[in-house]
Amino acid sequence: MSKNYQVIIIGGGPAGLTAGLYCARSRLSTLLIEKGVIGGQITLAERIENFPGFPKGISGIELGQLIHEQAIRYGLETLLAEVTSVSPSPKRNLISTTEGNFITESIIITSGSQFRKLGVPGEDKFVGRGVSYCATCDGPLFKGKTVAVVGGGDTAITEALYLSKFASAVKVIHRRSQLRASKINQERAMAEPKIEFIWDTVVIRIEGEGAVKKVMLKNTRNAKISTLELAGVFVAIGSEPNSAQWRGLLPLDEAGYIITNEVMETKLLGIFAAGDVRHNSARQAITAAGDGATAAIAAEKFLSLK
Ligand code: NAP
Repeated sequence: MSKNYQVIIIGGGPAGLTAGLYCARSRLSTLLIEKGVIGGQITLAERIENFPGFPKGISGIELGQLIHEQAIRYGLETLLAEVTSVSPSPKRNLISTTEGNFITESIIITSGSQFRKLGVPGEDKFVGRGVSYCATCDGPLFKGKTVAVVGGGDTAITEALYLSKFASAVKVIHRRSQLRASKINQERAMAEPKIEFIWDTVVIRIEGEGAVKKVMLKNTRNAKISTLELAGVFVAIGSEPNSAQWRGLLPLDEAGYIITNEVMETKLLGIFAAGDVRHNSARQAITAAGDGATAAIAAEKFLSLK
């Protein structure tokens, strides 16, 4: 038999947890389903310095746990499971998961995004053997070694700064000659003697024997090929939305992000999307939390008008 809820939230990052807090405080029966770790992608952040209320910063894991604890206090239920299918219907949406089926009057999609891959030869082969998508997880393994970070955004720069605590040298390989990262992160990276920038360059192949030994690089201006010997490649080139289940059900933008209006309503009545999975998200923990609160308020209004 399927259990019924007024709201089911899919995804337990800052957007989902905040939506859960708001729904639970509105006394809506609410289930949050998370397939990985409560907190989502922020759990990979060693320190979050721009979430208001934490003047000394806070670890991503701790922030996720605190919001979760706060939401549970007001009655949020949480299930660790993977959503396997969704069947939207105006009155009874069916959600099937690896831990059972559920019926819900409304859905808030907060499934976030996942790391983009380089898609070059050697990347998949050496995952966990020199290729990584998470400096906080794997950085300490590269003590005294040379590593590269690919990308020019805030993730790449914060990863490079973190890695500089362990590695002997950190090469930031960026396809352009200007960083996309915030000015404060750029200043920190420029001031770190272990960090060196390799501009206008892309990785075209990752090579090794058992573990990564070198990368082959191509200059994007003059097409010159070069080789760089190293022990680790940290890929930080942005992310892609976890929205595959909604393809054909909801309008998505060209990159696959879910299109919503300003109160997080999707085209389907009673279905909302918030945080990194939605089109035009600023992709910050605090904006995701704000999206989650907005979606919960809109869901409550939808349910009260039904
Ligand atoms: P991002 O801002 O989208 O940056 C992705 C970077 O990867 C860009 O520099 C991009 O190059 C490069 N790139 C994309 N595809 C590539 C490819 N196929 N090959 C080589 N390079 C490629 O992603 P992000 O750094 O993960 O940041 C996501 C969001 O989270 C941003 O809004 C960011 O501000 C936020 N964030 C903030 C902090 C913080 O400390 N405040 C920390 C982490 C993340 P181009 O520049 O040429 O496009």
